[in-house]
Amino acid sequence: MGDPAFKRADQGFGDDRAIEQALESAHIPSLVLALVHLTGDVSLLTQVPRPVYDFFGDGQGSLAPDVQATVRARAATALKALRDGAPLPPLPPADTIRRMMDFIAGVDIPEHYVSFLMEELAIGGGKPRASAPEINVPASAKARFRVVIIGAGMSGILAAIELQQSGIPYVLVEKNADFGGTWFENSYPGCRVDTQNHLYSYSFENNHDWPQFYSRRGVLYGYFQRIAAKHGLAAHTRFETTVDEAVWDEASRRWQVRVRDKSGHAEVIEASAVISAVGQLNQPKFPDIEGRDSFQGESFHSARWNHGVTLEGKRVAVIGTGASAFQFVPEIAAGLEKLFVFQRSAPWLGPTPEYHEDVPAGKQWLLEHVPYYRSWYRFYLFWLMTDGVLDAVRIDPAWDGGPQAVSALNEELRLALAGYIAMQIEDPGLLAKVTPDYPPGGKRMLRDNGTWLNALKRDNVEVIDERIARITPTGIVTAAGRAVDVDVIIYGTGFHASDFLRTFKVKGRGGVDLHDQWNGDARAYLGIAMPNFPNLFSIYGPNTNIVVNGSIIFFSECAVRYIVGCVKLLLEGGYAAMEVRPDMHDAFNTRIDAANAGMAWGAPQVSSWYKNAKGRVSQNWPLALVDYWNMTRRPDPDDFVLTTPGPQWIPDQVRDDDMGEAGARFYRARPPRIFALFMSSSRT
Ligand code: NAP
Repeated sequence: MGDPAFKRADQGFGDDRAIEQALESAHIPSLVLALVHLTGDVSLLTQVPRPVYDFFGDGQGSLAPDVQATVRARAATALKALRDGAPLPPLPPADTIRRMMDFIAGVDIPEHYVSFLMEELAIGGGKPRASAPEINVPASAKARFRVVIIGAGMSGILAAIELQQSGIPYVLVEKNADFGGTWFENSYPGCRVDTQNHLYSYSFENNHDWPQFYSRRGVLYGYFQRIAAKHGLAAHTRFETTVDEAVWDEASRRWQVRVRDKSGHAEVIEASAVISAVGQLNQPKFPDIEGRDSFQGESFHSARWNHGVTLEGKRVAVIGTGASAFQFVPEIAAGLEKLFVFQRSAPWLGPTPEYHEDVPAGKQWLLEHVPYYRSWYRFYLFWLMTDGVLDAVRIDPAWDGGPQAVSALNEELRLALAGYIAMQIEDPGLLAKVTPDYPPGGKRMLRDNGTWLNALKRDNVEVIDERIARITPTGIVTAAGRAVDVDVIIYGTGFHASDFLRTFKVKGRGGVDLHDQWNGDARAYLGIAMPNFPNLFSIYGPNTNIVVNGSIIFFSECAVRYIVGCVKLLLEGGYAAMEVRPDMHDAFNTRIDAANAGMAWGAPQVSSWYKNAKGRVSQNWPLALVDYWNMTRRPDPDDFVLTTPGPQWIPDQVRDDDMGEAGARFYRARPPRIFALFMSSSRT
């Protein structure tokens, strides 16, 4: 199957000069591979030196300027020929594709990554991480299996699309008035994605015409709206409706989901399964600071930006220096009389010169017109983020070089990043404040192009790193006794991230309350399934957040594939319910906890929202992306307690019309697949 881009190659290809100009913006390693497709000349893979990527490099794989020029010239010739009617050679064979992968990665990719990466590349067409499997049961059985999806952000949209494509009815319940989740809610100035946009997109809706490498919030919001519209999701969505409670009814083996619309009208939706897609980062967290309510000026949280408040000419305090404040502080600083940035810990900054840049027209052109260029460009981004700097944030138990690093490699990274900060700051007082004192990787590293420190260096900006003692009617008082009067306080203080599924009650088998079961320490099997909660699945659940590698969309795609696989298992197996085995769940969590304890964010000297009130890292995935991919490719029935329906479950029409009497007899006679463990469980 050909590259869809090629189908458009004859449209607007332009003259020689247009081609040559576009090639000036090429990502050369991707262009080399596109050239292999264009010419069939595999010798390019040895003629051109393998790229060598550097954390601080230009992304061109350290290829010498003359090599880059030669590749461009050859690509120009091949593209002009293509424009003039030359045929595109057939796709290279699999072993060549494999060599091409090694080339662009700059390493011999380990064998156990190959299928995972091939799927992402999807070079022969097809849908990467396709779930939407054929579910081979009668339409009437599917029709009866309704799913409630809670949340219409990135993950909920994805779940709806995949269920829809598998023919499973669903109701999408969304508290907001539109799709988009985080991109709907966060409208603060400067809000933009901090994963490369050509990667931060569904693998099956890979937008190649992002206006910026890291697009602004409005572009992302538009993307998710467009995808939802394309798939007709609105017809199945209840907007401005909140879920108050989901209760498992053992008799019917279905969930009763109590929802409330904006007029206060309550209703119970019955569902065979519930998918929580409520996200981790959407319940704004205000700090527990004495006197907070006494403040008489304006105040708001960054995720609920009050656009009605005029900031220009005002004295403003920002509390927090996390990813949100990092983006809005440089946007607002210039117009203020005075900005006080209250910092508890400084963020590490990852140099990203193109962070605010538009994608040049030439690059857009290449992505649009050059066969397979965009596939390889995305693959390159995916590979870079596959393990990211995972090795550099892993704790070496033998490390004795002090608490600001966790290994020799981490120390190397720390020194390089500290140097990057020092390069930008002359004032030693400010430098001491803005240089983090914890290991890189302890918290999320922020993409930086210099705007953050430039903002902090402004004459009207002051970084205050003293602890806040209290908030008064007129401002903020520090523990050292300094009082700062302000007109506005903006809380960039993050979210209730470790209070998973915080906004509604969930009662499972035997009336067990999910939040009681968690007791402030949320855990799940693969972030998806919890013992005592049959047919309840969570996307972006406990321990599925990432710090230095991957894109969260990748995780959601893996989780949704797994969940739709669960629906398939239930329906095709004739089961009414599946519940993760406690031993599987516990063993998984033991493994994850041990791995998290070995990462910089799990180090005892690091405190962050990745750790819950009990000190356990409940947010993060500590292993490689390929591990999550492998674990979630399809559910293993042996990981679950699977129960057959009671007689009342078999719908008449299935028994009589679709299955026939023989089928129905088989259905009824099938012994329930119940593990001894389930029977002997001490769970209530
Ligand atoms: P955050 O990372 O949790 O940052 C909260 C900030 O508030 C931290 O600097 C924290 O200090 C500080 N803070 C909290 N309580 C405080 C208190 N009592 N006194 C003083 N300071 C206090 O929240 P966020 O910036 O909203 O970002 C949350 C996550 O959202 C990010 O990590 C990222 O995953 C995501 N996000 C992504 C993007 C993007 O993709 N573009 C943008 C924004 C957010 P400590 O560090 O000392 O705890």
